[in-house]
Amino acid sequence: MLRLDSPVEELKGIGKGRAQTLKKLNIVNVSDVLFHYPRDYEDRSAVTPIAELEEDENAVVIAGVKEEPKTSYFKGMSITKAKIYDASGNINAIWYNQPYVKNNIKPGEKYAFIGKMTRKKNGAGEIQSPEIEKIGENGWQGGIIPIYSLCAGLSQKVFRRIEDEALKALETGIKDNIPLYIRKKYHLSERAFSIKNIHRPESPEAYLIARKRLVFEELFLLQTALLKLKNENAADSSGIRMDKTDMTPFFDALPFSFTEAQKNVLAEIKDDMSSGRVMNRLVQGDVGSGKTAIAMAAAYMAVQNGYQAVMMAPTEVLAAQHFESFKAIFDPLGIKTTMITGGQKAAEKRRSLAEAASGEADIIIGTHALIQAGTEYKNIGLVITDEQHRFGVKQRQTLADKGGKPHILVMTATPIPRTLALILYGDLDISIIDSLPPGRQSIDTFAVNSSYRERIYNFAKKEIEKGRQVYIICAMVEENEKIEAESVLKYADGLRDTPLGDRRIAVVHGKMRSEEKDGILKDFAAGKTDILVATTVIEVGINVPNATLMVIENAERFGLAQLHQLRGRVGRGSEKSYCILISDNKSEITRQRLKTMTKTSDGFKISETDLKLRGPGEFFGTRQHGLPALRIANLYSDMDILRQAQRAAGEVTENDPGLEREENRDLRTELDRLFLSDNIGI
Ligand code: ADP
Ligand code: MG
Repeated sequence: MLRLDSPVEELKGIGKGRAQTLKKLNIVNVSDVLFHYPRDYEDRSAVTPIAELEEDENAVVIAGVKEEPKTSYFKGMSITKAKIYDASGNINAIWYNQPYVKNNIKPGEKYAFIGKMTRKKNGAGEIQSPEIEKIGENGWQGGIIPIYSLCAGLSQKVFRRIEDEALKALETGIKDNIPLYIRKKYHLSERAFSIKNIHRPESPEAYLIARKRLVFEELFLLQTALLKLKNENAADSSGIRMDKTDMTPFFDALPFSFTEAQKNVLAEIKDDMSSGRVMNRLVQGDVGSGKTAIAMAAAYMAVQNGYQAVMMAPTEVLAAQHFESFKAIFDPLGIKTTMITGGQKAAEKRRSLAEAASGEADIIIGTHALIQAGTEYKNIGLVITDEQHRFGVKQRQTLADKGGKPHILVMTATPIPRTLALILYGDLDISIIDSLPPGRQSIDTFAVNSSYRERIYNFAKKEIEKGRQVYIICAMVEENEKIEAESVLKYADGLRDTPLGDRRIAVVHGKMRSEEKDGILKDFAAGKTDILVATTVIEVGINVPNATLMVIENAERFGLAQLHQLRGRVGRGSEKSYCILISDNKSEITRQRLKTMTKTSDGFKISETDLKLRGPGEFFGTRQHGLPALRIANLYSDMDILRQAQRAAGEVTENDPGLEREENRDLRTELDRLFLSDNIGI
């Protein structure tokens, strides 16, 4: 009997070869086939008489075949032709390199031919490589046909047949992972019906009903899982209670006073850390809003209470930078900071590891090396990470194994609209730093095409003559660091023949070893170079207040949030700063996106625009949020369903936090199956 977890080989028509091909699409068992939803549909219910075919328009022709199709060969290519006819006329259908088509057509029978008609020079029409469907006993069913994202070696037709086979598994029953009372309340169709109709819609209405249910399902499961985690955490009172909350010495050591926004966020963190529960908090704050100081304050509190604080950064450069700024504040307070990274020299690393393990170090800053085997701590009380290191269940376990149940603080500079933050971070409490430190100047931003390049270089030259520094960012051309590195080097070389030719130019890219990168960034920070030509390696966090000009080439290739991050590298000092976005792309969307950058410096607005214009696929393209990819829900256009799913998830988890009741049993089983791996963050 066919089951959801049966391997695809058990489906009729799938042998070893096809199974291999399907594997490329991550389709291994029957349920993978069922959950490979169509990317689009084609309506094939309308039939066009041959005489009324329009050039280059997809059409369905129902026609008979007069005689055996003929195959001829031309320059090694096979051409198969069949003369087909209906009451209105006749026409040739033609296939290239598909001689086997002959076997699928028998003279005297009727078929549906689906394809486009084109005209030859002499005006005669031809249907090009039409798909052939035999007409069943009930005549042409046509209807709405699914189109799938597939890979080479797999045709739509073949996959549709596989899908039809897989759909048979539904007949033996499939558990509904949305409890009945929720389905009733939110008017959702049954699961089996929905899966069937997303692939083979009985009607446009059935399709809409099915889609709504499946979008809801996806968002509801995710949201319920996140809320369940959050509840479990809230109920867990075995967190480290840190009740020494006097921060005076820290604030005295800080060269500025906290903004109201920073104070509010710190108050929330203090509440968490002194509550006896384990803190799981996300701090959202725009570029330059002062998240590092928040991290320092939290670390200070942990240390005051006798615990170590650990801070993990995404790159060595950033780790080093944090290390320097922490030392500047904490050394005078007699609090010892140390650093652990992968690229460290052996002796240095050995010393740091020993300091972390013995407890001699109070604050440990580093990269991923911080949670790797061999890194031991005396007593961690707080872990600070950025969103890229949002911890999965497994990593949390790793940390817990290294001691206790530390408080967790996640920092993000990617502002996300509230509704979306809920689905992405539903398991975390969220704090927002909603204003910037005082005295920030706005960064004048311009979007221009490359005919301005000479003028831009002259402007850059003037800034440099005033003693300032300049970033030039080259967009990633391909997903290939080597090619990228070459193109950055070439660009820097090209600068030799421009007004910037006699300036001190440095290049940094992702292909470099981290010490090399570090050296170059340090030199730039120290003012030893004027221009830094870089890839996006400098995107996160680097702080050089003397840099006042950011030039971004091929700006259309970046997400707006990313452009916003890059722009945030300037405007960090007292001097007026500028950002110039260069793009020769003429599309309306690009124009609007870049215009948004010139009009606003509000990260939330920017990310919202990007989401609207490019869609969530691009926005969340990198899957940096550590959550499973969505198969069918569109976080932007399905906002209404998203809200309903969030409400439903809230209702379910409020009444039954552990999902222990009978009516929620299948839901719980499903969540365990989906999320008990390490693919979801806490
Ligand atoms: P981000 O949120 O992007 O990580 P940072 O923490 O790097 O921002 O802070 C950006 C700059 O603002 C730093 O130079 C920092 O010293 C400064 N800063 C942070 N908070 C304040 C404040 N309350 N008043 C003045 N300057 C501040
Ligand atoms: Mg930062």
